[in-house]
Amino acid sequence: MNKKTSTPGFATRAIHTGQEPDAETGAVTVPIYATSTYVQQEIGKHKGYEYARVSNPTRTRLEENLASLEGGIASRVFASGMAAINALCTMYKSGDHVVAGNNLYGGVPRLFNQVLAGYGIEFAYVDTSDVRSVERAIRKSTRMVYVETPTNPLMALSDLKAISEVCRRKHVDLVVDNTFMSPYFQQPIALGADMVVHSTTKFLNGHSDGLGGVVVCTRPGQVEQLSFVQKAAGAILSPFECWLVLRGVKTLAVRMEQHDRNGRAVADFLVQHKKVRKVFYPGLPDHPQFELAKQQMTGFGAMISFETGSLNNANKMLRKVRVCSLGESLGGVETLISHPATMTHAAVGERGRKEIGITDGMVRISVGIEDVDDIIADLDQALSAI
Ligand SMILES: *Cc1c(COP(=O)(O)O)cnc(C)c1O
Repeated sequence: MNKKTSTPGFATRAIHTGQEPDAETGAVTVPIYATSTYVQQEIGKHKGYEYARVSNPTRTRLEENLASLEGGIASRVFASGMAAINALCTMYKSGDHVVAGNNLYGGVPRLFNQVLAGYGIEFAYVDTSDVRSVERAIRKSTRMVYVETPTNPLMALSDLKAISEVCRRKHVDLVVDNTFMSPYFQQPIALGADMVVHSTTKFLNGHSDGLGGVVVCTRPGQVEQLSFVQKAAGAILSPFECWLVLRGVKTLAVRMEQHDRNGRAVADFLVQHKKVRKVFYPGLPDHPQFELAKQQMTGFGAMISFETGSLNNANKMLRKVRVCSLGESLGGVETLISHPATMTHAAVGERGRKEIGITDGMVRISVGIEDVDDIIADLDQALSAI
């Protein structure tokens, strides 16, 4: 292949796409355009920027960067992951039907059931790891299939290629939340997704210091609608927050490599630990979808859940962690440990949790990039409290 015309690699695009030196000063880092408005030369004559809700150069750079990393034609960023998901849902109207995974990030069914259902969009929830149940749930009015893979906290995978073939046949959009794997380990658009969403709050930003969300598009109509929603509804990402993500993505490739290495080591440690009853991690050969994980992802990532046996055991252990921090969220450089039943999945209710298999003894870790020996030693001493 001619090296000069081939697409640069992932890490190169993460550092350079949209992150070209500033044309005026040569500043190697994209400037933060902290401005609400732009001076116009005369009536109707300006440099493409009129008002910062509509467009901002820092934001434009980030949108170019993230579109490139996911292999989309363009992207639009929003004030949080939830704002991004809400924005993409404006493409659907009253009477439209959506088939969604039955084990999504808790905020998503909350948005669907308690906000969007009120506007007449209908939702059905199925186990998307079973392609046939996705196909069976699609009706004449279905416009979108919404999938998270792997799921939180059970780490169940959905076969994106197989689901995208069903969607194509039925003329339904496939939207994938790629937050857990990041574009470094999983490329849903290459597997047939029509749109990809992220909470950039997590691995893309990577430093637990800002919220954000993005929708990556594959068709001009999607870009047009999302640009309109930025202007019309206004839940845009601020220039400073855009800059944080631009800085964060520069190290995405090396961070994900280290997250993955540490994730595998922590999973291996947990599997052999006497107090741990079960480990959920797609990189373990006994994960029911280990083969799919190897095909669909280029790494296994840093998200691991495990079973301590009871709420009491989980509590005893979580009280004792020192290197790991007990808290919600994930994807930062620091190891975060959480208790799904009382934190991320409290709103699902006891019955809902039982249906999808989330127990009171389940603990979830987002393995950070500290020295892995320190993470393992900390988990070991905390588990000894059980
Ligand atoms: C955190 C998260 C969201 C929501 O993102 P916010 O930035 O918190 O609004 C959506 N999907 C997944 C998978 C997440 O982890």
